[in-house]
Amino acid sequence: MKFTGRVALVTGGGRGIGAEIARSLAREGAVVAVSARTPSEVEAVADEIVKSGGQARPFIADLSQADQGPALVARVASTLGPLDFLINNAGIASSAPVAKISLEEWNRIFAVNVTATFLCTQAALPAMVQRGSGRIVNIASVAARVGARYIAAYAASKHAVLGFTRCVAAEVAASGVTANAVCPGFVDTEMVAQSVSRIVAKTGMPSDQALETIKNQSPQKRLLTSTEVAAMVSLLCSEEGRGINGQALVLDGGGLLA
Ligand code: NAP
Repeated sequence: MKFTGRVALVTGGGRGIGAEIARSLAREGAVVAVSARTPSEVEAVADEIVKSGGQARPFIADLSQADQGPALVARVASTLGPLDFLINNAGIASSAPVAKISLEEWNRIFAVNVTATFLCTQAALPAMVQRGSGRIVNIASVAARVGARYIAAYAASKHAVLGFTRCVAAEVAASGVTANAVCPGFVDTEMVAQSVSRIVAKTGMPSDQALETIKNQSPQKRLLTSTEVAAMVSLLCSEEGRGINGQALVLDGGGLLA
């Protein structure tokens, strides 16, 4: 139980990668604030953790609204205690050629993926630095490291998350706090299910073939699991992970080799 007594906030904790991160931190003894917009999902994850002997509380927040991130961090700290781990996982994706991305869509992606990560980190960091310990883990993507067709808004947002992570890491390096980004390839979640639906809608391809196309982008010809991402987050939050700072930990089966 390496995280006993630690307080963690997982944004986007209602399903997918965030839910698995919440479960895995709680299994190691952390008290977990599970947050997202959909009450039924965050409540289900928090209930499941509590029923299996862990500690978790649901917190509803819409991080597309700039004031809600800092308010969430404050609410979690006042309810559960000072934050040890902030996992900026909430994220959204869309796809379109550059010529067809509206400013509204660009801003929608940036508000959740980038601005909320900035604002939650800014709200959590001073107390961590003051206490001389803390972990910021930003769930970026391999799209933080490479570009590809039709994902300009998403990839630009994840590149921004990585740049932000590196700067935070530099600022806190001497304080006992670390900031890192986890950069997965395709993970078996609702987000990929939506990508499959978009491919089907745009190309008329059958959905199993669309899914194969996505799997084939990995040299391992498979989707990652949320458990694999959560294991990396656990490492970053652990004492053994304290030397890892400002890194982009790529988890993609060996697709990106630089
Ligand atoms: P997901 O299943 O769609 O879950 C996303 C989570 O974020 C949900 O809990 C969602 O809950 C929450 N969220 C979305 N908009 C929000 C908002 N405005 N305010 C608060 N919470 C919000 O996606 P996932 O695959 O688990 O993705 C998690 C993270 O991993 C994202 O940052 C994503 O970019 C990244 N990632 C995913 C993949 C992949 O292949 N799946 C690969 C690389 C990186 P509500 O909708 O209820 O708010």
